[in-house]
Amino acid sequence: MNAITLNNGVRMPQLGLGVWRMTDDEAEKAVTTAIESGYRSIDTATLYGNEEGVGRALRASGVPREELFVTTKLWNDQQGHDEALRAFDESMRRLGLETLDLYLIHWPAPRRGKYVETWKALEKLYADGRVRAIGVSNFGVDTLERLLAEATVTPAVNQVELHPLFAQRELRGFHAERGIVTEAWSPLGQGKGLLDLPVLAEIGAKYGKTPAQVVLRWHIQLGNVVIPKSVTPSRIRENIDVFDFALSPEDMATINGLDEGRRLGPDPAVVG
Ligand code: NAD
Repeated sequence: MNAITLNNGVRMPQLGLGVWRMTDDEAEKAVTTAIESGYRSIDTATLYGNEEGVGRALRASGVPREELFVTTKLWNDQQGHDEALRAFDESMRRLGLETLDLYLIHWPAPRRGKYVETWKALEKLYADGRVRAIGVSNFGVDTLERLLAEATVTPAVNQVELHPLFAQRELRGFHAERGIVTEAWSPLGQGKGLLDLPVLAEIGAKYGKTPAQVVLRWHIQLGNVVIPKSVTPSRIRENIDVFDFALSPEDMATINGLDEGRRLGPDPAVVG
């Protein structure tokens, strides 16, 4: 499993399981299958309502805690300094963990005007050693610049919508300049649509890989962290089987050419 070194030296697996839209029981099963298949990183959030199921699977796995990398996120209505500290405690209780690997602000929610004070709370959790790395999600260049102007700790990652149809070239360039790792949500473009493009099947045929594996490999070669979601055991295994081949520069360029600059998910400027 490849790992990426974050800006504070912490190593994060480059591929993990996303557990959005899973119940506690579904998440418990999916995380169990994922860990058996070699995954060591799990991406959940307070909003997903499955931190307890994730925690159960992690404990039952028997894998030493230091080999696992767990991310969760605070929800928009938990923004604010003291609210964020409380939200963290509640997530940790549900997960059954003492230390978290990565804690993210889920959305900037700019109309609430609280993401800077929320960030200060994350900086405190980090300084207190309760979380190994802190970051953000769904921030753009504008909200990141505002945050960086007031931050003591630079976010380790920004988790954003990113897939071949919405490749976020400008934001990736900004992250690279500032030492922020780009983490891709909906890395498969949520499955339908993107994965049906014939060109991905054509490229995959050359390597004996599926369209999903081609797309995940494209992310890996760009240097993104990816967190594909699946509850289906065969797909969970398929999605991590992407470290034994490399796309040629021509195939990377073909996939880069699919960018339509169109989001599947909501615009962060209006969420929250
Ligand atoms: P995704 O791009 O990972 O697509 C998942 C869907 O693709 C599955 O439900 C399934 O239908 C299909 N799929 C998965 N593996 C496949 C395979 N091998 N072959 C064919 N189809 C396959 O979409 P996602 O769930 O939106 O995103 C992944 C994760 O990102 C989430 O679970 C969550 O952890 C995170 N996320 C974060 C935010 C955020 O605001 N920070 C928003 C959305 C998602």
